[in-house]
Amino acid sequence: MSVAHSSVRPVTAGTECAYCGSDRSPHDPVFAEEATDGPDDERESVGEFRNYACLHEWIEAAALVYGTACERSPDG
Ligand SMILES: [Zn+2]
Repeated sequence: MSVAHSSVRPVTAGTECAYCGSDRSPHDPVFAEEATDGPDDERESVGEFRNYACLHEWIEAAALVYGTACERSPDG
């Protein structure tokens, strides 16, 4: 999953935060999207949030942080 800041996408007015349901348009929204299993490296939106706090709370609520880790190889 990757997180894209609003500066790279147009903001659609009048939509709700995926976590708290508040109108996110007056704020600085954050979009999350996830790679699909499709052949073309497609991505689908998993949520649009009012800010990083809502994204954080949503991730915690969905327990997405458990069982995952960033894997790094010392050989690059
Ligand atoms: Zn929210």
